[in-house]
Amino acid sequence: MLKKIRANTFVATTVLAPVTYASVPTLALTWDTNVNTVSMTSSQEAKIQRAEEKIKAVVASSTFRSRVLNHTYRGVKKFVDNNGLTNSQIYYKILYAAEKLQPSKNNTMDMGIKTYYENSNTVGWTSTGSTYINMNTKFLNNYTSTNVTRNMMHEWLHKLGFSHAVSYSTSRDYSVPYGIGRIMEELAANY
Ligand SMILES: [Zn+2]
Repeated sequence: MLKKIRANTFVATTVLAPVTYASVPTLALTWDTNVNTVSMTSSQEAKIQRAEEKIKAVVASSTFRSRVLNHTYRGVKKFVDNNGLTNSQIYYKILYAAEKLQPSKNNTMDMGIKTYYENSNTVGWTSTGSTYINMNTKFLNNYTSTNVTRNMMHEWLHKLGFSHAVSYSTSRDYSVPYGIGRIMEELAANY
């Protein structure tokens, strides 16, 4: 009887442990954020900081790794507008976190955030020539920190060099910024 219990324990250890820890590269666990906010209210700032914590927790998770590696478009494991990269290469690009304008592989999301107000449907925008992203307070003020993670991830992925179609199309939702932004928000809701 005792032998059987020990045998079961052994099975549980070897089967379960890799799911939570071993499948995530060390780079996922050490991944960090370095986000500068400009002229924000204290509640806007607190929301961004909470969003940063959630993004870090998601990137460290094996679920995030699995969702990115297994992302499919029309039955094929890939992203739209993937710059010729496989899902695995995109995952590592996120972990290395070498932005176009801050190209060291420092394992850190480097980004600034400025706010603006506009009565439009645009949540935010960024340009390739700037290390900052712009967030529309019309949305930011009503968003939860979980909602904000999606926007931050989306705009930051532009900083890594990923783009998408300008106007809406079904395939655009499967681009790197839209696809991984959506995954981020979904998983951030767990924290
Ligand atoms: Zn975009």
